[in-house]
Amino acid sequence: MTISENVLNVLDNVSKSEKHACRAENSVTVIGVTKYVDEIAARQLVISGINNIAENRAELFLDKYHALNDLDITWHLIGTLQRRKVKDVINYVDYFHALDSMKLAQEISKRAEHEINCFLQVNVSGEESKHGFTKEEAFDIVKDLNELKNIKIVGLMTMAPFDAQEEELAVIFSETKELQEVISKLNLPNIPCSELSMGMSRDYQLAIENGATFVRIGSEFFKERD
Ligand SMILES: *Cc1c(COP(=O)(O)O)cnc(C)c1O
Repeated sequence: MTISENVLNVLDNVSKSEKHACRAENSVTVIGVTKYVDEIAARQLVISGINNIAENRAELFLDKYHALNDLDITWHLIGTLQRRKVKDVINYVDYFHALDSMKLAQEISKRAEHEINCFLQVNVSGEESKHGFTKEEAFDIVKDLNELKNIKIVGLMTMAPFDAQEEELAVIFSETKELQEVISKLNLPNIPCSELSMGMSRDYQLAIENGATFVRIGSEFFKERD
């Protein structure tokens, strides 16, 4: 399989899941995660029709950003961001998916030269190794985040444990959606919280059926064959 065949295959699956869940066509944004590949493969992915691109580390993000500067790309930073790196990277980011502390939000607010679209990372499963707010913490912190300049909380992001089975995944995704709706109903001006970033290569179809509006897909685009 080439990258462009993998793209067609994923987009077809996304479209099927949208239909299956009675959701509008193109209601899901497919993000291509390029952390495994060089700029040549990343460029191939964009040319094949994926113009939302993500990296999980600040340095690799900047490398790709500059290498693909001639293409029309919406840029996502999806991994944990250290506070001391915020100033180097944040103004190139269209969507930041891993806001996991108030201190990080304050640093972003201080360094941002325009409004930054952020996802609050929530750790619904309570898995210790995962970053992110618990559901209670997320609910409590949005009122404070609402006061920060240049921070817009567009939605929630979650990562399921690697070994989660389908049933557990469905619970995690639907609980994240519930929390997203609760926060959205607070009607805080800088916290629209209308989006859900969840689902990766192995579980994006299930995530879409549970309300994901952004899926983050890496290995599925770059695999050699089934
Ligand atoms: C690597 C990564 C992905 C993509 O994972 P795949 O399983 O390769 O699709 C998604 N989200 C985050 C935060 C990642 O680090």
